[in-house]
Amino acid sequence: DTVFIPLETSAGESRVGGSPDSVKKLKTLGFDVVVEAGAGTLSRIPDSEFEKAGARIGSAADAASADVVLKVRRPSSAEVAGYKSGAVVLAIMDPYGNEQALDDMANAGVSAFAMELMPRITRAQSMDVLSSQANLAGYQAVIDAAAEFDRAMPMMMTAAGTVPAAKVFVMGAGVAGLQAIATARRLGAVVSATDVRPASKEQVASLGAKFIAVEDEEFKAAETAGGYAKEMSAAYKAKQAALTAEHIAKQDIVITTALIPGRPAPRLITREMLKAMRPGSVAIDLAVERGGNVEGAVADQVVEIEGVKVVGYLNVPGRIAASASALYAKNLVTFLETMVDKETRTLALNLEDELVKATMLTHGGTIVHPNFAPAPL
Ligand code: NAD
Repeated sequence: DTVFIPLETSAGESRVGGSPDSVKKLKTLGFDVVVEAGAGTLSRIPDSEFEKAGARIGSAADAASADVVLKVRRPSSAEVAGYKSGAVVLAIMDPYGNEQALDDMANAGVSAFAMELMPRITRAQSMDVLSSQANLAGYQAVIDAAAEFDRAMPMMMTAAGTVPAAKVFVMGAGVAGLQAIATARRLGAVVSATDVRPASKEQVASLGAKFIAVEDEEFKAAETAGGYAKEMSAAYKAKQAALTAEHIAKQDIVITTALIPGRPAPRLITREMLKAMRPGSVAIDLAVERGGNVEGAVADQVVEIEGVKVVGYLNVPGRIAASASALYAKNLVTFLETMVDKETRTLALNLEDELVKATMLTHGGTIVHPNFAPAPL
């Protein structure tokens, strides 16, 4: 069977669904691999590196004969129309609210898998694109903050005087937030963090940051069975806002990562709170794609609000594309490996596998995922 790794066509997408290592792995699994010319350029992988790993360099037209397409973003309707019927397509599919795209994939007859729906269970950890990419986003958020900040991060005692350590506050201590805490600590900042899930308290403390949260009865029950946060009540939000307002006035940098599955991002920082920060403070809003945690944050821009630089970069993992592609490609190939028959070294989809059930959107010409399939007549 043949795997095709295309050049991403979505605006601003610098990542790629393959790496020299993933190509080598695909070859050992029995696949022929074709990489579109230039696919790795923005991730600093020259075509020659893919070739050395055993891939043939091809063009977009090679998609038509591929049995598997490994992508970062969902294929456009034009792209998917050119795929072979029955092809397996792995990508971040962003299916919610995109019915037309789901229809297009079903009509093309492809088996489309949404990598972001991978269950967060031990077996699937090495295929978890949300974690691999959020981890890098958390790191990059601190790097972006340091770049926008006009002061030093670590305390420096010099002959010319002492520079105090920057104070960094991380809101939302999931995968991205925990990496932001660790990175800010490595740069010498004094770090505090908050979350609504009680389980995060110990994780924050173990990274050497101070945990700050409204720890009432609602907080004790804020984690869903899936490990995610619930939307909090208006009363909790008011208490949280009061605590945030008091704490944030003493911070130099705030990094927000708070998300609630299937809901808009919670608004955690108001303009009023930004006003209380020192001039030259920085707010990095990693939730801007989902509506933002910071009032006034603008997607893909750095705006100044009340003297605070508010950073709303989109696709933050794409800002560190070489690393992000390497991990993402590994996630894809690890998942694909579960679909390969070791004896015949060819694709053999097991529709009963829980990972397949959780991620497969379309198959055999229809939308099959329970969250998106039309109700039976
Ligand atoms: P996420 O991206 O959905 O949200 C980021 C963080 O924001 C979460 O920690 C959430 O609790 C927090 N948040 C939501 N509302 C908030 C509010 N109002 N105020 C403050 N914080 C708020 O989360 P994530 O990073 O994907 O992690 C979710 C969970 O999944 C965590 O428990 C994590 O440990 C777990 N996880 C498990 C696995 C695995 O077992 N394979 C892998 C990755 C993550």
